[in-house]
Amino acid sequence: MSKESLIEQIRNGLKSEILKGSYDVTVVSESASLIVLRITLNVFSQNTNLDLRLEEGVINSMNVEKEKKFVEGVLKTLFIQVTAAFYENFDCLAEYKFDQDRDLVLVSDFPGCRFCGLADNVTFDDKAHALPASTGNKFILSDYECDYCNYEFGRTIDDHFGRWSNWQRTLFRIRGNRGVPAFSLKGGHIRLEDDQTEIQLSDEITITFSEDLNEATLEWKNLTYIPSQVRKCFYKMALALMPDSELAFFQEIQSFINPRNNIRRIH
Ligand SMILES: [Zn+2]
Repeated sequence: MSKESLIEQIRNGLKSEILKGSYDVTVVSESASLIVLRITLNVFSQNTNLDLRLEEGVINSMNVEKEKKFVEGVLKTLFIQVTAAFYENFDCLAEYKFDQDRDLVLVSDFPGCRFCGLADNVTFDDKAHALPASTGNKFILSDYECDYCNYEFGRTIDDHFGRWSNWQRTLFRIRGNRGVPAFSLKGGHIRLEDDQTEIQLSDEITITFSEDLNEATLEWKNLTYIPSQVRKCFYKMALALMPDSELAFFQEIQSFINPRNNIRRIH
């Protein structure tokens, strides 16, 4: 087993495992008996480094089976390091356990709607997703979002979040209410179904090939959206998930996203 092939395996292993972060593999030092590889992962906007020492004896004793196990071990170590880095920088405020077959309905000790504050003359009949269904969330619901806020969020901030994240949801095949969304622009579209990929090129979706034809680059414009509405949608997700005890610290945010506070503007 050659060292080049092992390095290649590690690169390919990372490529298949880490779709939502970027990574870099560099050779820090190389001698006849030792290669040190540095793997830098960027997940949640943080870099995590792992130095990997590949000793000659190890490389020489590799066979396909051992190599597979070795690469798996590397990925596992990386995963643990990234998770540890995440918890070093963030506090976990709430943890929810749920399974994919049953709804998890979050409840609150406060009466009324968490987003507009009203408790009287409001209804809570509709299904309220704590995270928009477009993010792939089917099961995490709340019982503290009134029907008015639910409707207003749906046609404003959820809609802009959907437009902003459309191409990402298409490429990462995030299933919303109506399956994986297609990304459509005037005259063109990108559609990724389980068994087929369809790209209709247009002035707004273009493809260029490298000289050796080994690489193709797709470029597209994003859909139009209002950035402040997307930001509000993230705030809304955080408010929807946080425990009651945190709410007092986020009253400004609450007021900022309250649909009943917003003067209608032309969209
Ligand atoms: Zn409300």
